Amino acid sequence: MMEQPSLFEEPRPTVTFPLRIGRTTVEKSETRSILTRASGFMSDYDYTFNPYAGCSYGCTYCYAAFFAPDEGLQANWGKWVRAKTEAISTIARMRTDLRGKTIYMSSVTDPYQPIERRLNLVRDALQLFAEREARLVVQTRSPLVVRDIDLFKQFEHLRINMTVTTDSRAVQQAFEPHCPTNSRRLASVTRLTEAGLNTCITMTPLLPLQNPTSFAKRLRATGVTRFVVQPFHAARGRFVAGTGQQAQELTRQMGWDDTAYQQAVAVLRHELPHLDEGRDGFRPE
Ligand code: SF4
Repeated sequence: MMEQPSLFEEPRPTVTFPLRIGRTTVEKSETRSILTRASGFMSDYDYTFNPYAGCSYGCTYCYAAFFAPDEGLQANWGKWVRAKTEAISTIARMRTDLRGKTIYMSSVTDPYQPIERRLNLVRDALQLFAEREARLVVQTRSPLVVRDIDLFKQFEHLRINMTVTTDSRAVQQAFEPHCPTNSRRLASVTRLTEAGLNTCITMTPLLPLQNPTSFAKRLRATGVTRFVVQPFHAARGRFVAGTGQQAQELTRQMGWDDTAYQQAVAVLRHELPHLDEGRDGFRPE
C-alpha cells in the first residue's frame, strides 16, 4: 500500500531564507536527521525531536546554548535559528516505525517559537507522529501550542508540559525577556486542559517567587493537576559565558539560594495536588 502522509495535503506558503523575526535571523538547515536517540536526562525516551536548532526566546539560563556548534553561536544565543525544513519529509519517506515509541519534543529548542507560526514544521511532525502511533511529550512556553489542539486529540498517549518559571514579571523580564508572558502561558495551558488534553506545568527552572502561595493558587486555577519543579542548575557547570553567568549573577542578587528554593518548594508541595521534582516529572507518557 502506498502511504501518503497527510502532511503533504496542506499547502505551505513559500518562505525565503534567511528571514528576520524580531532580533532573530532564521536560516534553513540542511540537517535531515531530526529524530535523535535520546540520552542523558532524556534517556527514558526513545527519541528527542528538535525541528529547530537555536531558539528565539534566548533565555539567560538556557542550557541548550551549551550545545550550539561554536562559541559565536553560543554568545549570540537567541539571535539565530536554523529551521530543519527537509527533515520531516525525510522521516516520512524512511517510514521509521514509531508505533509505541516515546518522543520528547523538544530538548534543545522551543518547538512553538515564533517562526513555527510560518513554517508549520511541528504541525507536519504531529500529523506524522499521530499516524504512526507514537507516544509524545511536548515541552513549550508558547501560546502557539493551542493551534494544534486538533492534532493532539489524535494521540492516544500525549502530555503537554507548559513551562512557567516565576510569578514575578520583573523576574521574568530579567531572566527571559523575550518569552511570552506568564498570563499568556497560563491561559494557553488552561485551554489545553479544557480541551481534555493531558497537561502539566513545569517550573523548570523555578526562579525567584514573590508569593509561593498565591502562585500555587494561580497555577491550580488552570485546571492542571500535575506539576514539576526543578532548581536553577547553576552548579551543573554546563552554562556558557554570557548566558549562564548572567543568570547566575541575577540569582545571587535576588537572594535565590538553595534555602529560598527549598522553602518555596515546601509551599508548592503543600498547595498543589501533585508535585514531582526533577527527572521524575519528565518521564514519558
Ligand atoms: S525557551 Fe527553552 S530552549 Fe528556548 S531559550 Fe528558553 S530555555 Fe532555551
